[in-house]
Amino acid sequence: MVDLREFLNQLETENELIKIEEEVSTKFEIAAIIKKLETEKAVFFKKVKESNFSVVAAVCGNRKRICKALNVVPEKLYEKILQALKFPKKPSMAGDGKVKEVWEKPNLKNFPILTHYEKDAGPYITSAIISAKSPDGKIENVSIHRLLVLGKDKLVIRIVPRHLQKLCEMAKESGKKTLDIAICIGVHPAIFLAAASPAPFGLSEYEVANSLLDGKLKLLDCENVDVRVPSDAEIVFEGKILLDGKVSEGPFTDVTQTYDIVRLQPTIKLVGIMRRKNCIYQALLPGGTEHRLFMGLAREAKIWETVKAVVPTVKAVRLTDGGCGWLHAVVSIKKQLEGDGKNVVFAAFTAHPSLKHVVVVDEDINVENLLEVEWAIATRFQADKGLIKIENVRGSTLDPSANQETGTTTKLGLDATKPLSKPPEKIEK
Ligand code: MN
Repeated sequence: MVDLREFLNQLETENELIKIEEEVSTKFEIAAIIKKLETEKAVFFKKVKESNFSVVAAVCGNRKRICKALNVVPEKLYEKILQALKFPKKPSMAGDGKVKEVWEKPNLKNFPILTHYEKDAGPYITSAIISAKSPDGKIENVSIHRLLVLGKDKLVIRIVPRHLQKLCEMAKESGKKTLDIAICIGVHPAIFLAAASPAPFGLSEYEVANSLLDGKLKLLDCENVDVRVPSDAEIVFEGKILLDGKVSEGPFTDVTQTYDIVRLQPTIKLVGIMRRKNCIYQALLPGGTEHRLFMGLAREAKIWETVKAVVPTVKAVRLTDGGCGWLHAVVSIKKQLEGDGKNVVFAAFTAHPSLKHVVVVDEDINVENLLEVEWAIATRFQADKGLIKIENVRGSTLDPSANQETGTTTKLGLDATKPLSKPPEKIEK
């Protein structure tokens, strides 16, 4: 069995989980506490004012806990993620599972769904994986979407033009009015990471997750919708995306910690709920470190792999927290040839099209220490020699300063490595 609860027990045993005994509110209060504690420890909220269920958050609020969840040492983290994408494994099916302990009619009001920030449109589910299939059942997709609660059985879902949108279009073309989905909350972090990974369309993220979990993932079929879910999830909302008619979604504080604009998005009608008896609701703070880690980690691995093909002596890659875990990268290399730094810049942009700024440094600079990175820029960088500027290229829709109509941006690469004639000296720490 590989489930969230097993991992929470491990965190508790290893003193990586804080339990909050006092009653807390889903309205801003829990979000504020997560923000304060998430990089330090996972947080368990025993008593929630608005619900009978407990909340857990920041389960993977730092890299150490992600490595723990994937049972891997930090040096092997990228390899593990890349291997799982290259060698996915079909999960086995379970006849029954803990998620089927309780069956009930949909009522979202019973669940401790958080309102995170003051100007957010309302309570948002941000920690769910959403699974769906193509009309012929051959393609399965699992992805992460924010969901705004509109009523006891109604939500609006933000769908970016990726795989779930494609499945919606395929369903519409085949004459369907709705698309069956399952919204799963409280799954093992490996499943969540797989759902956030850049698996190509056609490859089920469950297979990536199963590979990360060494073949231990078990799925089961939902009762009211034609979708598969992890058999030991905490909560599953069974629902249907309505393919006609959209409503306003947003504002919402996204990964950049700026308010995302209001857009017209599809609604979901829930048809059933399956859950564990004393289910734990998992929360994820939008714009927090955990959000950035889950979004960026697989991309970081991709950058590492692509750079390695060009400069095999790549040492480390970081999508920095200040760059929202998405827009800024620092790459350290052991420079072999003059010009390596600039090739690394292009490789990084190729690996992660949303990347906006990249700084390349020598191996003596710790990519996690931005003071050292700035020091390298101050002492080893000259803009007339080491700067690469690429105008009007595709960037990230998450960047509020990008051209909002075309989505284009200007990218900068900084080669802050020393010339080979002057070997890097160690920084005094
Ligand atoms: Mn996909």
